[in-house]
Amino acid sequence: MNIQSFKKHIEKLDKKYLWHPFTQMKEWAEESSIIIAEGHGSFIKDIFGRWYIDGVSSVWVTVHGHRKKEIDGAIKDQLSKISHSTLLGLTHPLAVTLAERLVKISPKGLSKVFYSDNGSTAVEIGLKMAFQYWQHKGIKGKTRFLSLKNAYHGDTIGAVSVGGIDIFHKIFSPLLFQCHRAPSPYCYRCELEKVYPSCKFLCLIKMQDILQKNHDKIAGLIIEPLVQGAGGMIVSPAGYLKGVRRLCGKYNILMIADEVATGFGRTGKMFACEHEDVSPDILCLAKGITGGYLPLAATLTTEKIYKAFLGKYKDLKTFFHGHTYTGNQLACAAALASLGVFYKEKTLKKLQKNIEILKKELDNMAEFLHVGDVRQKGFMTGIELVKDKKTREPYSLKKKMGWKVCYRAREKGLIIRPLGNVIVLMPPLSISHQELKSLTSITAEAIRQVTE
Ligand code: PMP
Repeated sequence: MNIQSFKKHIEKLDKKYLWHPFTQMKEWAEESSIIIAEGHGSFIKDIFGRWYIDGVSSVWVTVHGHRKKEIDGAIKDQLSKISHSTLLGLTHPLAVTLAERLVKISPKGLSKVFYSDNGSTAVEIGLKMAFQYWQHKGIKGKTRFLSLKNAYHGDTIGAVSVGGIDIFHKIFSPLLFQCHRAPSPYCYRCELEKVYPSCKFLCLIKMQDILQKNHDKIAGLIIEPLVQGAGGMIVSPAGYLKGVRRLCGKYNILMIADEVATGFGRTGKMFACEHEDVSPDILCLAKGITGGYLPLAATLTTEKIYKAFLGKYKDLKTFFHGHTYTGNQLACAAALASLGVFYKEKTLKKLQKNIEILKKELDNMAEFLHVGDVRQKGFMTGIELVKDKKTREPYSLKKKMGWKVCYRAREKGLIIRPLGNVIVLMPPLSISHQELKSLTSITAEAIRQVTE
């Protein structure tokens, strides 16, 4: 079969059998698709041999690049021993060693690791632990959660209940549990119509109002620390996260930090909480944990929470929750190897220069006629396109401006994926200076060509 026939064959089967995530399949069926065959470093290659920069790290997961020798090797070594055995009633050295490492690198106070296999489950576990904790403590009225508008915590029903993005979540509202919502720290489009810093954190004052009235009914608050990712790469102003932590302490609410997207170096530090010296009660991790190789997630918690679940079996204090692939050996091997690379290559130290390069390039793009706001925290970036820069009037979502820019970038050898009108740049942490410059110059060209 020649390559053109192979493409047609795969496309035909794809359209016949696959249902793609977050995709309008009617449109997908009408479009030609890029079929990926290989990856290396910051690049992915299609079946025609064309290389593209992986500008969003294969949806925010690739850390040290594709086909990283150390991670490939660790998985191959593990394959020759065992690929999977359960953590239900058994244990294994990799799960244990990784748990110890995670506790050592995470914010202080977190001491126990509960594994699962994706970001949504890490969040479900955090929510259920927080809920059950108060039940065991005898404070039975604490059954609700507080989250933020524009929040995204995954696609399972619990995670959707604490989500705050109407176009994804509203349709499911009859299925969802009750959740209070505090304003999003989205300074560019402040719902309270204030300007930072003269606002004096009115959004936190509103959060405090909710807590004051309802703290006896709220089990926990869940937040994406520093950056609301899927909500549009919304970066909170300095001091906001610390303020949230303070409020949780004051009102006796468990703080759940969802670092599924921000964790493992994305914001320039290992975890976003470190920027404001914040320790949550529960920490949810996934995505970059295996360097972007295999599905694995972890929910970390404190000794205080863990101890509330201890008792005789007949007390039924057990955390009755567990996913089949919990602590899978291949995934743990990848995660340990990935953490090893962080130390061996001083990934976070080296990243700082690239964060500066990215900042300079973004500053240039901020001047463009249809770029309203540019947001960056480390290697998490959102470029918000607007119809009118002065009035901040957004493009109608129907115009799909974000997608048009991303399609143009594809033609130039860069794969990126927008969030509505926000162009997301989130390359592997290992990207070289030169590759980063190509990424930003293609993005800049694509934005100008599509919007001007
Ligand atoms: N939380 C956050 C902050 C996320 O960004 C995501 C995924 N984008 C999730 C949870 C859900 O992760 P998963 O897709 O692995 O279920």
